[in-house]
Amino acid sequence: MPLFGPPNIAQLEAKRDIQGLIKALSYKDPSVKIAAADALGPVGDPMAVEPLAELIRDQDAGVRRAAVRALSARGGVRVVEPLIAALQDSDPGVRDIAAQAIYRRLMTDPDQDARRETVTALGRIKAADAVEPLIKSIADPDETVRVAAVRSLASIGDVAAVTPLVVMLAREQYRAKTTGRSSLAVERAAGQALDVLCNENAIDALQAALGHDDSEVRELAVKRLARIESPLVARMLESRLNDESPIIRRSAARGLAEVGWKPPADETGAHYWAALRDWRRCAECGPSAVPLLVAAFPRAQALERLDILAALVSLGWEPTEQDATAATYWATQSNWDKCVAVGAPAVPVLDGIVGSDPRWRERVEAAAALKALGEERTAPFARLELVQHALGVLDGEGTDEEKRALLTTFLAEEHQYEPSAKQKLDWCQCGYPSTRIRKDGRRELITDVLGFEPDASGAPAYFCPNCNASRSATA
Ligand SMILES: [Zn+2]
Repeated sequence: MPLFGPPNIAQLEAKRDIQGLIKALSYKDPSVKIAAADALGPVGDPMAVEPLAELIRDQDAGVRRAAVRALSARGGVRVVEPLIAALQDSDPGVRDIAAQAIYRRLMTDPDQDARRETVTALGRIKAADAVEPLIKSIADPDETVRVAAVRSLASIGDVAAVTPLVVMLAREQYRAKTTGRSSLAVERAAGQALDVLCNENAIDALQAALGHDDSEVRELAVKRLARIESPLVARMLESRLNDESPIIRRSAARGLAEVGWKPPADETGAHYWAALRDWRRCAECGPSAVPLLVAAFPRAQALERLDILAALVSLGWEPTEQDATAATYWATQSNWDKCVAVGAPAVPVLDGIVGSDPRWRERVEAAAALKALGEERTAPFARLELVQHALGVLDGEGTDEEKRALLTTFLAEEHQYEPSAKQKLDWCQCGYPSTRIRKDGRRELITDVLGFEPDASGAPAYFCPNCNASRSATA
């Protein structure tokens, strides 16, 4: 303790007498305390932290300001608690300095522990001003800081956090799906925060998220909206029934079903049923269903196409353009002449059928249509004309024996087997020729009259084009 008057701060500072400056912090004169605190600030000595923190409770506001200034110059995890306490000071000056220190300094402190402690403490005191900086912290490079920021946003309860959290969760889920790498802790925290925040007050925020560029964000927003009980929600979900993303259309429709919404028999209803891919009910909503059915048609799977087709037929629709939709429409009805009449746009449609239709008869017809368009293919039929002729015989008049005799003669003429070399024929159970048996008893598939496609190993697998039976395992 100084014996002769107050301590000389300038002198202590010049001598870098940290102990002396710390002692001066407890001198009774506020101006001395302030000078000592100001001198200790730039030094950043860890020993000074506790005595400076003590001054946060000093009755003189000027002293408290100086203490907060000195602590904030230092940063690091040890100053978090005193600065957070200063955030609730009765003096606006103290609060301002503390806020600056926390939001500009501690939340970007190089020490992740300091950042995490700050973010956590802000949630604990439910600091309303902290929402914006906390939203920034949900993108912190450190996972534990991100989780803490998300939890604090949930405990503050401001719906301004809803959209950023939805975006964050959508990105995290997208990352998990595409790279398999994501932060489960962050995902869980964001999900729980949204559980807390997504109430009636969050409707506007979620509506804003519905306009986001990323479909993942829109999808999450729709799902969260659907859980809120409010008449406003139904109207908002309705507006998403014609979103560009089919996933969102479906989520919106499911959400509407969940909130007990009843689809009207008009354009909105048509969109609703189309989103759920219930094409019959879609058509029941009248002519406004047509563009939806037409749009869904080319991208649908073969079986679904039949449903869409039936729905279009029930509405009296026929294609007016010579485009891929028209080609698909006619091909689905096995109207090959009209399909060929479409011309070039029919080629990819026919190639799709030729390459993957489970019904091999359809593949034969589609291959013939391609040939008629000058686009002959070497697969899946090595010799399409032989297949067509053999199917023609089976489809024609006569008994099974007569047909077998006709086919036997035809195949001999085409050199598919040699009766003169004592070869014989064997047949598919449907009566279609499949195998030649050589004089030595060896069996060979008559591959020129069968359909083929590569199996899992890339080797050709053979099929009866009449009955779809696999002919590869047992010749
Ligand atoms: Zn067969």
